[in-house]
Amino acid sequence: MVFQNSLEFARQLDALDSLSHFRNEFHLIEGKIYLCGNSLGLQPKAARAAVEQEFFDWQTFGVEGHFDGKNPWFHYHKFLTQKTANMVGALPQEVVVMNNLTVNLHLLMVSFYRPTATRYKIIMEGGAFPSDQYAMETQARFHGLDPDKAIIELMPREGEYTLRTEDIIKTIEENADSLALVMMGGVNYYTGQAFDMKAITEAAHKAGAYAGFDLAHAAGNLLLQLHAWNVDFACWCTYKYLNSGPGGTSGVFIHERNASDTTIPRFGGWWGHDEATRFKMLKGFKPTSTAEGWQLSNAQVFPMAIHNVSLEMFERAGMSNIRAKSELLTGFLEFLLNEVDTKKQFEIITPKNAEDRGCQLSLLFAQNGRATFDKLLENNVIADWREPNVLRMGPAPLYNSFEDMWHTAQAMKSV
Ligand SMILES: *Cc1c(COP(=O)(O)O)cnc(C)c1O
Repeated sequence: MVFQNSLEFARQLDALDSLSHFRNEFHLIEGKIYLCGNSLGLQPKAARAAVEQEFFDWQTFGVEGHFDGKNPWFHYHKFLTQKTANMVGALPQEVVVMNNLTVNLHLLMVSFYRPTATRYKIIMEGGAFPSDQYAMETQARFHGLDPDKAIIELMPREGEYTLRTEDIIKTIEENADSLALVMMGGVNYYTGQAFDMKAITEAAHKAGAYAGFDLAHAAGNLLLQLHAWNVDFACWCTYKYLNSGPGGTSGVFIHERNASDTTIPRFGGWWGHDEATRFKMLKGFKPTSTAEGWQLSNAQVFPMAIHNVSLEMFERAGMSNIRAKSELLTGFLEFLLNEVDTKKQFEIITPKNAEDRGCQLSLLFAQNGRATFDKLLENNVIADWREPNVLRMGPAPLYNSFEDMWHTAQAMKSV
């Protein structure tokens, strides 16, 4: 599409947008343009009633709410399963919602990072989100390994900001004899680069290693096909693109071939135990032969009630429609930002190709980045600042409008 730098053009795009009505289903922040959905998504209006329902059932039924409530808590996580599977391109038996992201990352590594004397290396992206770095580092130490020897961090080429798929694959091939796991983000939180998960998974498998992904910045953002891509496992948080509230619960994917294998070692808890005999309280852990076999505890009903509302919206909008709007919205913002940056004060380091990014644009500043971010706030644009020098903008297709993009560019121009 050929974009135009005008308010009329932005309004035309909004008029043509079949998802524009979803904006009314969110609590927008009065007088502000919110571009921080990649950090904490806005609140769906229906979230409150969903939580109220569970308060009501708790107050009315007490413990009997596990079976007699409107949405029985005993298998509350199952209300989320099909919608989660649709959202990430998985089979229902491959997904479960539980815990929080970093907790799940560790639980999955217990199963899928079991280093031996010869096969012990992890390949990850350099500059990964700190929690992921700490998880990899402490997993290596937990197995008595030196993180500097066990972890290979992929770095961009000299003068580049993002990774080339060919370089990722080359590193995998070069370490084929000693590689245990390739563990990457789906989208890097800093640069906004989306990785070719299909190609990376294929290369990891060829090398005899597992392939896992942290989809914190990819779930609800990219069109994922985790099952078809043969990904071994993945996990994601739900409070960023998935609008499920601060500290919200987390989603997990375990490919069917792994999920059905009850001999895979794991940390067990009663909610992962075979459902038919769970309440017989017998000795001997017998895992459910699906992704639910990795659950430890009973369902976190309150955060899941919010997440269920959000997943229902994604289901109604359709992930492919969301992605189509997202590409257009981000493309429009990119066009407008380049229009107003006449003095070349920043560089957009996010890949230009829509296939290689989600909705986020990362603006690298040589100087005055932090001041620009602060001034934007004064001008009612809530973006996001990441040390040392990147300003991130993440327009969310369910609640940001094309007109928002135009006002954002005007605010950039004025600061
Ligand atoms: C947001 C984010 C996290 C945060 O983890 P929590 O356990 O939910 O606090 C971890 N990893 C990545 C890549 C993230 O983007």
